[in-house]
Amino acid sequence: MTFTRPTAHLTFTLTSPNHTTDRLHASGELSEAPLPLPQSITDGELSSLKTKEFDLLIVGAGLSGATLAERCSKQLNMRCLVIDKRNHLGGNCYDYVTEHGIRASKYGAHLFHTEHDRVWNYVKTFSEWIPFDHRVKGLVKDELGNEKLVPIPPTQETVNLLFPQSNENEIKTEQDMERWYEQQRVVPMDAQNNPRAPLNGEEAALSRVGPNLYDKIFKHYTKKQWDKYPEELDASVLLRLPCRTTTDDRYFGDKYQALPKRGYTRIFENMLLGDGNISVKLNCDYFSHKAEGTLPKHKLLVYTGQIDLYYASMGMPKLEYRSLRFQEEYVEWDEGEVEKDASDASSSKDASKEPSTSDNYFYQPAMVVNYPGPDVPFTRIVEYKHTPNQPRGIVDEKTRGTLIAKEFSTDEGEPYYPVPNPENRALYEKYKKLADGEKNVSFVGRLASYKYFNMDQAVLNALEMFDNLQENGVLEEKRAPEEFGEGDGMK
Ligand SMILES: Cc1cc2nc3c(=O)[nH]c(=O)nc-3n(C[C@H](O)[C@H](O)[C@H](O)COP(=O)(O)OP(=O)(O)OC[C@H]3O[C@@H](n4cnc5c(N)ncnc54)[C@H](O)[C@@H]3O)c2cc1C
Repeated sequence: MTFTRPTAHLTFTLTSPNHTTDRLHASGELSEAPLPLPQSITDGELSSLKTKEFDLLIVGAGLSGATLAERCSKQLNMRCLVIDKRNHLGGNCYDYVTEHGIRASKYGAHLFHTEHDRVWNYVKTFSEWIPFDHRVKGLVKDELGNEKLVPIPPTQETVNLLFPQSNENEIKTEQDMERWYEQQRVVPMDAQNNPRAPLNGEEAALSRVGPNLYDKIFKHYTKKQWDKYPEELDASVLLRLPCRTTTDDRYFGDKYQALPKRGYTRIFENMLLGDGNISVKLNCDYFSHKAEGTLPKHKLLVYTGQIDLYYASMGMPKLEYRSLRFQEEYVEWDEGEVEKDASDASSSKDASKEPSTSDNYFYQPAMVVNYPGPDVPFTRIVEYKHTPNQPRGIVDEKTRGTLIAKEFSTDEGEPYYPVPNPENRALYEKYKKLADGEKNVSFVGRLASYKYFNMDQAVLNALEMFDNLQENGVLEEKRAPEEFGEGDGMK
């Protein structure tokens, strides 16, 4: 879509980037939790804005919507109304502090990582950040049936632990590991016995890691994630299976890996609140207000919701998503108790060489422990207390409780992960064609693009769209969403 940059009443003050870090904290706001928002924001009422006219009506207070609102306000002095149907800022990045004082994410653990200096410099203006190299462990049975806690994605240590060898055959170098993979890999062959491309997820996985790692780490985990075995999935879903040859057990390899010191929600508070150009309304569904005719006048609509819902009235099929159900549990140790009930999933500690529950009252030795086996229905357990951006009480004192969230993949619930198959891709293209024909509507972000964007990709995409507006007067993508790469996807 194109948007003619209004000139009559707007001043395009091109200010230099604002380098304040956590403006709210600097101004004396010491809260560790999301700020209580006034009723004028949470009432979902648009009648008070009836007589106002906005340059941008932004549907969605997630990273995509917030980045555009912040840039357009600060750099182009545009008046923005940001609405969200949820009762909080931040979209899927929203985090909060529980009644027990633990910082947790409502929509699943969010680990920030990026290679992009531009994104890093931008997010640094809204928060202080604490470096955090994310590491994931998997609880996996070795060849003898003993549970081992191993690095995920697999490293040299993973293979040595799961497939113990005599000392001289142990994997010690990248060359050893490469040789091991070579021995394991099963290359699909055509009728003439020539190598051919994998036809499905199972063939793709076997060609990457071979049957042993596949069976122990990827096969059942994939089934739990997608409710389909790899052989029923596109080869593309498993072609990117991470198989490392090194000892690097960090989950991400990016230059910048960090967590926001006072949580992600603070970033959105700094971006959106206290800016005279930006009005925010929560509990405010775009479609209800559109149907009621209560949306205030606006020159351009920025829509970050589901693209298929935008065109729901056309009766086309819905795009498919996988979702997650989080089963949260607060686990508390009685005074003097140093060992946790051995019957629960903490059997991981038997295999652990990491912090023991007795020292720090942790449920498990890492923030994320994956359960790749078919014996439990959940995929992984997240224990938030491991993150270094916990509120003061949690960090300084040995709090005898911890919050864990077991994750179950499901078809029902919040739309999290686009389902990558040819049918959905073709259907999305139909929606995209409709969207391209809209005047004064921009479709932005992960739901509108039917694309899993990592946080940094969502920010970069929005920044580049802003560039386009600033340079060419059009709020359009500079590059297609696919060009940002796959994103982490389901973890
Ligand atoms: C479970 C999970 C874990 C993730 N973990 C990571 C991670 O570790 N690292 C990482 O880099 N990225 C992670 N991500 C990706 C990250 O969440 C996204 O990059 C980011 O949320 C994208 O922001 P967005 O604004 O495009 O979308 P969203 O955050 O989804 O925001 C869209 C907003 O639009 C609102 N909306 C939709 N329809 C309407 C309507 N009709 N009316 C009003 N409001 C509406 C929604 O309520 C929502 O708040 C994860 C994603 C998920 C699902």
